[in-house]
Amino acid sequence: MTLRSGPHDQQPWLLASFAMSALVMTAFAAVGGAMSGTGQGQSSVPLMTAGWNPSNRAGRASIETKPYVAATAAYPAGAMAAFAALDDAAAQAAVMREDPPPATPTLGAFVPQVDPKVTPADPSDAESAEPDTQTVAIERGDTLSGLLSEAGVQSSDVQAVLAALKPLYDIASIKAGQNFTLTFGRLPNAQEAASGPSGPVLLSVALKPSIERDIIVERSDGGGYKASEIVKTLTERTDRAYGVINGSLYQAALAAGVPEGAIAELIRIYSYDVDFQRDIQAGDRFDVLFTRYYDDQGTPVKSGTVLHATLTLQGERKPLYRFTHPDEQTVDYYNAHGMNGKRMLMKTPIDGARLSSGFGMRRHPILGFNKMHKGTDFAAPTGTPIMASGNGVVEVAGWAGGYGRYVRVKHDGQYKTAYAHMSRFARGLKAGTRVRQGQVIGYVGTSGRSTGPHLHYEVLANNRHVDSQSVKLPTGTLLAGASMAAFKAEKARLDDVLKATPLVNAVAQRQTNTAQP
Ligand SMILES: [Zn+2]
Repeated sequence: MTLRSGPHDQQPWLLASFAMSALVMTAFAAVGGAMSGTGQGQSSVPLMTAGWNPSNRAGRASIETKPYVAATAAYPAGAMAAFAALDDAAAQAAVMREDPPPATPTLGAFVPQVDPKVTPADPSDAESAEPDTQTVAIERGDTLSGLLSEAGVQSSDVQAVLAALKPLYDIASIKAGQNFTLTFGRLPNAQEAASGPSGPVLLSVALKPSIERDIIVERSDGGGYKASEIVKTLTERTDRAYGVINGSLYQAALAAGVPEGAIAELIRIYSYDVDFQRDIQAGDRFDVLFTRYYDDQGTPVKSGTVLHATLTLQGERKPLYRFTHPDEQTVDYYNAHGMNGKRMLMKTPIDGARLSSGFGMRRHPILGFNKMHKGTDFAAPTGTPIMASGNGVVEVAGWAGGYGRYVRVKHDGQYKTAYAHMSRFARGLKAGTRVRQGQVIGYVGTSGRSTGPHLHYEVLANNRHVDSQSVKLPTGTLLAGASMAAFKAEKARLDDVLKATPLVNAVAQRQTNTAQP
């Protein structure tokens, strides 16, 4: 097939809808980075420095530094300050991805508020005995020993810390984004004289390898370091949230108290069936049953899975149930009739949370889609991941005139899909590469004939363009026999759980007097 004509130019409403989209993306990126522990979110972590910094790591991701002020007798001074700093970081992350903020005190509450007018300890002030804590984030390629050395820790102490940590934490498993809280302080005079250097020494290193575990390595009174850990017990609970969509599903679900992880899963499981830029209209509804993990103080700390959800779009109910296939042991989402919700091709082959709000476009029929338009446009910020909408083999990955950076995937004898205006391709992607449904093949851009970042998406049936949003595609498989019987039992169970689970946003619902589902 030849590429005689490029896609149409972008329409004004695409640009108008961008401010909202960028906001959503920023929020999502910040939370995503905090949750996944990859380096992706680091740039969005505010750079705050206060107090002195012995390593002078200017420009490094020193996300929090606070002078230590007071502690209870229950914990050594270094441990208290270090845990407080870590808990603050965790609480910040929790506030971003969850709600409500912790209602019960955490370790962080033991640290008194620092009066901003009080100047932090000056390292040159020999009279100062206040420990200093700083939280540093590992960046790609960093090692813990390198990080400690850079922070000014003596090499003998670095080795002692690593040796103490070894039984509790595999330092080879360190990932970009992992935070370490270092506490420095001066030794009592006698010890200081014995150890030689008069500068501050490393009192403790604290880390939180997972939501459930706190590890601290502390300096012993007689020198040397010892490590200990606190393991928290998390309880999995089932929650339910309901809401009316007046912008995007993402915004409405967030407002209703659905955790970020569950929203991402919700969008993903519906992306086979729903065009998140066009199918969502004001007044559409969602009802979602999901699990999440709470700490022993009743604070939600970790997202779980979506068990059951119903999107009601323009009056049409679209329920999905999570079900583990008894023979294949695969987890999937099925509609009420036991049909796998997956399709051969996705309707939204892009991160649905980053799309600009959909329903507003319907209000502007005059600015509606160009009749000659051969594809579907999804307005999203540059860099938004684009997915292969189905399994297949890459036919073209290169520059194609007005299409800019262009990828075409051949799915079977009949269907192909094409993706245009990319800012870049996924690493290693070229003609002949086999791709799976949902695999990232490139990133949104505005290359070629385009006036703003968007994905131009085409579906070809027997090399003729068809409407990607209305084409009747082969659906997933229908359960049968014993699998169907098992599904029906699970569906009945989930329906009962749904009825028995109070809404997490029930108070908000009453206040706004919104109809219950
Ligand atoms: Zn287009």
